[in-house]
Amino acid sequence: MKINKSEITALAVNEKQYPKDNKFEIAFAGRSNVGKSSLINTLTNRKSLAKTSNKPGKTRTINFYNINDQFRLVDLPGYGYAQVSKGEKEKWSKMIDDYLHNRENLVEVILLLDIRHEPGEHDLTMYKWIKSYGFNGIAVCTKSDKLSKSQITKQISVIKKKLGIADENLIIPYSAEKRMNIELIWEIIEEILEV
Ligand code: GDP
Repeated sequence: MKINKSEITALAVNEKQYPKDNKFEIAFAGRSNVGKSSLINTLTNRKSLAKTSNKPGKTRTINFYNINDQFRLVDLPGYGYAQVSKGEKEKWSKMIDDYLHNRENLVEVILLLDIRHEPGEHDLTMYKWIKSYGFNGIAVCTKSDKLSKSQITKQISVIKKKLGIADENLIIPYSAEKRMNIELIWEIIEEILEV
């Protein structure tokens, strides 16, 4: 994918603030701190288009990124961050639910998982939801630079089993640091956008 233009077009906390057009959207879901912002930066070749942070729980809005005026990448607020109040958590989950359930522009939700950990309860719920809505169920396993080749193979098989992924093309080890499999992720996104 050749990126001629990448820019943030909207930060939304409710539906009224979503961009109003028919452009397709590919959303990234995952735990807080899993590496969603870093993935958007790596995909777009930008250092800080999406704000990264080593403190979990930073992204509290749904962030829409315009790519080449053709489609959008969407960064959903990270879930599973313990250090926030119950009220705040409910607000986030409503924000995510509203987007996922009602957004007609949405053509795929890609789940990000930290390759070092077994998927948690929230990851499983999200993955089941993604499948139940008829999306492909693509899992991108972040931070693969932190593991050896053999550890990567082992963890991919652990995650695959836990999420019940039969097709191994749907699970991709990835690293922002090493730009591992960036081309592959773009190819998958391009294929989805052709639909
Ligand atoms: P988000 O909360 O899901 O948007 O996560 P961020 O993209 O802000 O990343 C959280 C932290 O993980 C930051 O300190 C990143 O530098 C780090 N990080 C993200 N992706 C990778 C990766 O592939 N490898 C390594 N080693 N660190 C990563």
